[in-house]
Amino acid sequence: MRRIEGTPAPLPSAGGAIGVLDLQGGVFEHLDHLQRLGIDARPVKQAKEFDGLAGLILPGGESTCLARLLRIFNVEPLIVGKFREGMKLWGTCAGAILLARTLTGEKPHLGLIDIEVERNSFGSQLDSFTCEAPIPDVSPDPAPLTFIRAPKILRVGQGVKVLLKIRGFIAAAESPDVLVTVFHPELTGCLAFHRYFARKCGLQPRPDEGGLDPSWDNTSWTRFARIV
Ligand code: GLN
Repeated sequence: MRRIEGTPAPLPSAGGAIGVLDLQGGVFEHLDHLQRLGIDARPVKQAKEFDGLAGLILPGGESTCLARLLRIFNVEPLIVGKFREGMKLWGTCAGAILLARTLTGEKPHLGLIDIEVERNSFGSQLDSFTCEAPIPDVSPDPAPLTFIRAPKILRVGQGVKVLLKIRGFIAAAESPDVLVTVFHPELTGCLAFHRYFARKCGLQPRPDEGGLDPSWDNTSWTRFARIV
């Protein structure tokens, strides 16, 4: 596993790792959160890297770009194949767009969870915002939420549970095998969603010590910017 400097060493894993799809977007921010929880985590894009994954995170970024890369690198059949074998999925923002069965006014991509998503539903990048909300299934404390040119989940189908609804739109939902959030927990000090997903994958993350990760600050994620 490629370790990120400054994060704790992983605990001995109860079996399986979590991969973060490494095509575009917020890959290292997710890896950092998983490693803070002691989860064996790695970036993935090639077939052999998908072996032994209990779960896969499709990060936020730009869904049109991600969808093109999925096709160019032929990653789509890998994700669908491993999903059918039991690998759990979590899509954040653009990742949730890729996983939705219905996209308002556009052709869907992977279609692995029965939700309808409307892209760029709040407006432009300038309409990005942060807020806080209690999410009882996921976190004992109110969670900080970061929405970046976010989509809205307009409706969920049968077998999909709404985890968070604010201001009339659905911001987080899950089926037994797929979690979707239209915000970015990986850009906050909140580890609750990563802990929740790790448990959904059957893994044992470090237990909740309450509140935000004290070693995370608002600039923590900037050290992952892949600018050369
Ligand atoms: N607006 C982006 C899209 O439609 C999603 C933004 C994000 O992932 N933060 O793909």
